[in-house]
Amino acid sequence: MATKVNKIGVLTSGGDAPGMNAAIRAVVRTATYNGLEAFGIMRGFMGMIDDDIVPMPSRSVANIIQRGGTILKTARCKEFYEREGREKAYKNLKKLGIDGLVIIGGDGSFRGADLFSREFDIPCIGLPGTIDKDIAGTDFTIGFDTAVNTAVEAIDKIRDTADAHDRLFIIEVMGRDAGYIALHSGIATGAETVLIPERKTDVEEIVRSLQEKERRKKLVNIIVVAEGEDFGGGNEVAKFIAERMPNADTRVCILGHIQRGGSPSCLDRLIASRMGYSAVESLMIGRHNVMVGILNNRMYYTPLEKAVKAKQKLSDDWLKIIRILAS
Ligand code: ADP
Repeated sequence: MATKVNKIGVLTSGGDAPGMNAAIRAVVRTATYNGLEAFGIMRGFMGMIDDDIVPMPSRSVANIIQRGGTILKTARCKEFYEREGREKAYKNLKKLGIDGLVIIGGDGSFRGADLFSREFDIPCIGLPGTIDKDIAGTDFTIGFDTAVNTAVEAIDKIRDTADAHDRLFIIEVMGRDAGYIALHSGIATGAETVLIPERKTDVEEIVRSLQEKERRKKLVNIIVVAEGEDFGGGNEVAKFIAERMPNADTRVCILGHIQRGGSPSCLDRLIASRMGYSAVESLMIGRHNVMVGILNNRMYYTPLEKAVKAKQKLSDDWLKIIRILAS
């Protein structure tokens, strides 16, 4: 039976991702459209514990759809792992009459939300906000498209200078557990190869391939490395190649946090808007404790406890395409 929701709290938690603001806006606007009150909880679960919660009327989310970061800020919160912390959070929500929560974050945040909703009578809806794209039950996560486009733009620029000097560039992109940013940006920038956590790195094979290309006078090469691949990241790979190929002009570039910032892409704004809308709709009809995803262009709801980090099966075809197109 659906119990009526009157006041919805929204928060962003864990790693930040471009498009979180668009999701916050969608939650607030959908809530107020339906006559509900919206509240912004600052710094993830921390704001629930510290009672840092502000009313969010419709106008409070004006002019944010295009802004990176999150106006609610985000944080990791140690106290929320403890029952005592969660109880304090619950009391603060109760005091304000908040009877539904929307959590925009990654799988860690969903674990926290799942636990909280089981212990206390506050339904939670999760929205996948992560640049890494590695969440089960959705084809898209808020932030991935922007991050990967930032990587593509940066790699294109590096290619210009690599080309001018006949250089080999090793470019490290984000992705501690998942290689999606590396894989997608590598294909889109014509990389020689991509190294990802999902596959064992074979540096000897890379050297062999580069040497063969050197013989054919293909001297400009880009290798895209996910930070979490198993050889140790961009610097280690570059060091190994430079030692084995002293004549190659090898450089490294670690893209780093640039990939988290910037104005969200059209796609990220679109999915954030659809998901935010759907989160409020879910709370209103009593579809509780799920993560809102999009699969095959349809809204798809995964129980929070199953919305875990997932390595969707990477297709070997993609790696083959990279190899063939870079030959
Ligand atoms: P992300 O959501 O990006 O995966 P984290 O894994 O750091 O990021 O999780 C964000 C926050 O969610 C944590 O700082 C903590 O407050 C909360 N959280 C994560 N896992 C749990 C858990 N098992 N129990 C309670 N809270 C949790």
